[in-house]
Amino acid sequence: MQRRLFLAAGGAAAGFGLWRASGWAAERTSMDPMADFALNGQLTQGGWARGKAPTDSTRLYLNGQQVRLAPDLSFFIAFDRDAGPRAELLAEQRGGGSSRGSFAVSPRSWQIEHIPIGRRPGSAPSEEYARRREAEQARIRAARLKDHAIEGWRQKFIWPATGRISGRFGSQRIYNGSPGAYHSGLDIATGTSGTPFVAPADGVVILAAEQSFTLEGRLLMIDHGMGLNSAFLHCSSHAVKEGDTVRQGQFIGRIGATGRATGPHLHWSIKWREARLDPLLFLGKMGV
Ligand SMILES: [Zn+2]
Repeated sequence: MQRRLFLAAGGAAAGFGLWRASGWAAERTSMDPMADFALNGQLTQGGWARGKAPTDSTRLYLNGQQVRLAPDLSFFIAFDRDAGPRAELLAEQRGGGSSRGSFAVSPRSWQIEHIPIGRRPGSAPSEEYARRREAEQARIRAARLKDHAIEGWRQKFIWPATGRISGRFGSQRIYNGSPGAYHSGLDIATGTSGTPFVAPADGVVILAAEQSFTLEGRLLMIDHGMGLNSAFLHCSSHAVKEGDTVRQGQFIGRIGATGRATGPHLHWSIKWREARLDPLLFLGKMGV
């Protein structure tokens, strides 16, 4: 199958796609965004892709939302756990032209556990707890707004630690028909507290909780650039502080059981903007 479009003399389109001329602008709708946007990655729920916008692109949109372009026109996009079944990229080009392409975001089957009883009714949180939680969430929100010119998003991620996978991204319990929140990260357990872990990619430390947060414990967050960030929960200690630049493979903290944790493990979550992503889709085989 022909992978690229050609505009024949006279404006007739050949191949799979369509050119529309309106005034000076030409819009091109392609059936092959993989080629036109050089997409490469995991086009599935919880996945991600890197790409390169067509020459002369000035702006890029994913499903109507603007996505940042690096000076070399590279970009990063990602797909929430419940995203799909399709996504669309639109690049606006100098001179008024544009290029558009849509592609499938493949569905996944999540580990779902049905619990035949209702959730235990929790007691109403105290005012003190609510205040404390609000302050913690405000810090997390503020950290996510920090944005650094760091290029971790371009790297192939490495495992922060190796061990037993004790919890998977996306898994969910359904209590008597009512779904609980799904698990938003990957849990790695080494069976002990104090195991060191490393930065999976370059980044800047945007949050390093000196004191344990109620749920997350000693939380460590790293900005990998372009709206992509990692959070490491339940740490026993941190080896870096806010504002530090870290390099892939650098020792950044130790695994623990602080916050709400039943035993020592590293809960690693990745977000791109508001989309929650599956860390396993960023990684090769464990230990590689
Ligand atoms: Zn977890």
